[in-house]
Amino acid sequence: MATVISGKELATIRRNSMKEEVIEFGKKYNRLPHLVVILVGDNPASVSYVTGKGKACEEIGIKNTTIKKPETISEKELLDIIDELNNDSTVDGILVQLPLPKHINPDLVINAITPSKDVDGFHPINVASLYLKQPGIVSCTPKGIIEVLDFANIQIEGKHAVVIGRSNIVGMPVSKLLLDRNATVTICHSRTKNLAEITNTADIIIAAVGKAKFVKAEMVREGAVVIDVGVNRDEVTGKLCGDVDFKDVEPKASYITKVPGGIGPMTITCLMENTLECYLKHMEEK
Ligand code: NAP
Repeated sequence: MATVISGKELATIRRNSMKEEVIEFGKKYNRLPHLVVILVGDNPASVSYVTGKGKACEEIGIKNTTIKKPETISEKELLDIIDELNNDSTVDGILVQLPLPKHINPDLVINAITPSKDVDGFHPINVASLYLKQPGIVSCTPKGIIEVLDFANIQIEGKHAVVIGRSNIVGMPVSKLLLDRNATVTICHSRTKNLAEITNTADIIIAAVGKAKFVKAEMVREGAVVIDVGVNRDEVTGKLCGDVDFKDVEPKASYITKVPGGIGPMTITCLMENTLECYLKHMEEK
């Protein structure tokens, strides 16, 4: 039987301590941290993510503004909004909810956000800072994964970590963070041959594939730590599920995260941490 690491529990602990910090800093600087989220269109998943982010802000006491724009907004109009927010000294964090409609280039939009307000950590300057080990904003999901491993006191140094997935938002940055913590990291992807052979050598598996219940027991070594990043819908039940077949894998793992209640709540919590970090930098620079 594996120990289930609760990202939800850790998120509650972190949010409670942030709540107190926000009150203290709000008094000290006479202004609350302020996150602005831009939502384009009405994609139900995006609406739900933005609602979740707003709720987390409210819970912690972070000021939250959501700017809703129709699908038809032009790229120029969106860039103008970002420009305005970049120059607004009362705004600490700017997040543009992805995906964007096809006629808008997401790279242009991300690049337009001032790096010191880029709470998602997607701007090339922040990405480069991660790879060069310089101070910068680390993107939320990879940061949350490391925090979850630390919360469970899982040793990372010297371990073989196998990351399934090489996206810019999860696979690549989490691999770098694991490497920085002295793990030996193998990154797997859709062209990887003999995936199960590789995952069977892993002490830690990070599943960021985007395929429901993709990781099965036969892919996991007895006693491995299994972190499930996936957010999918089970085709049969319609319920939320991860990239790991939890029922199948759990008996073999030593530690495992669940979906929901694992990495998801920590992603939002790390967004709050990043907002607080940006705010403190802005206030200290004044
Ligand atoms: P993505 O951009 O679609 O990347 C998926 C990765 O999986 C790609 O690198 C792909 O390889 C690899 N892959 C696909 N099929 C594979 C296979 N058969 N064998 C090995 N590798 C395979 O997805 P993402 O944005 O990284 O997200 C991954 C999952 O995490 C999704 O379920 C997403 O919803 C979830 N997610 C959750 C959170 C959260 O807060 N919990 C945040 C972000 C993402 P190629 O590069 O070769 O195509």
